Amino acid sequence: MLLLDLADACRGSGLRVVEVDGWQSRGHGQMSGVRTIVCHHTAGPPTGEVPSLNFIRDRGLAQLVLGRSGTVYVVAAGLCFHAGVVHEPNMGNRWAIGIEAEATGTAPWPMVQYQAYARLCAALAGHYRVAVARVLGHKEVAAPTGRKIDPNFDMVAFRALVADHLEDDMFTPEDRAKLNSLASRADVGFARDQIMTHLGKDPGASPVPPSGREGVEVARRVDVGFALEQILARLDAIEARLPEPGSADDRA
Ligand SMILES: [Zn+2]
Repeated sequence: MLLLDLADACRGSGLRVVEVDGWQSRGHGQMSGVRTIVCHHTAGPPTGEVPSLNFIRDRGLAQLVLGRSGTVYVVAAGLCFHAGVVHEPNMGNRWAIGIEAEATGTAPWPMVQYQAYARLCAALAGHYRVAVARVLGHKEVAAPTGRKIDPNFDMVAFRALVADHLEDDMFTPEDRAKLNSLASRADVGFARDQIMTHLGKDPGASPVPPSGREGVEVARRVDVGFALEQILARLDAIEARLPEPGSADDRA
């Protein structure tokens, strides 16, 4: 398949999108589908909006390039050579959209570009129904481990930001206020039951109504699809801020 809806998918981010001439027919043949989004940095020159664009375009090295201003350049709809040898086929070029963000790999990222990166990944994950857990850095998919270092930011924190953006897209402000209120009571199990109900699932489906950390564990095993995965990413972020049960001194 060619990702002929890629520019539209990118526009779902609200970012400025530039369609580079010929993108619809560019690439090294067909993609098999979209199961992973792989984040890269170009390790390019230290200044300029997208000095690496032509190099990437002419060699078919990524479907998308993210400029320093946060503008998205749509380069190719077909398969691109960006991931190389990976840990599992689903992470490989046939199944992965590659994003090359213009960056040296050493200098700090402009905040506008970093935020845009997360927004772009959220839009792609939403459009192609890719779980946030499948938004991965090249350094995470490349085999053997350690072969690649890009991108040079923490992917766990980055995915949390992606999840935040996805949640923004998924819920009305009213729903979000409700979820935040439930989560602030630190009863993630209860919140999860509300979510299940919201999704039209039977909250009593699990044998024991779970709560707290147990709720998170149970929810992890319950397949209610994409939406719940996004919510769990959010709950994980909340869970990470909760004290251990019976411990009063672990907030440091
Ligand atoms: Zn890379």
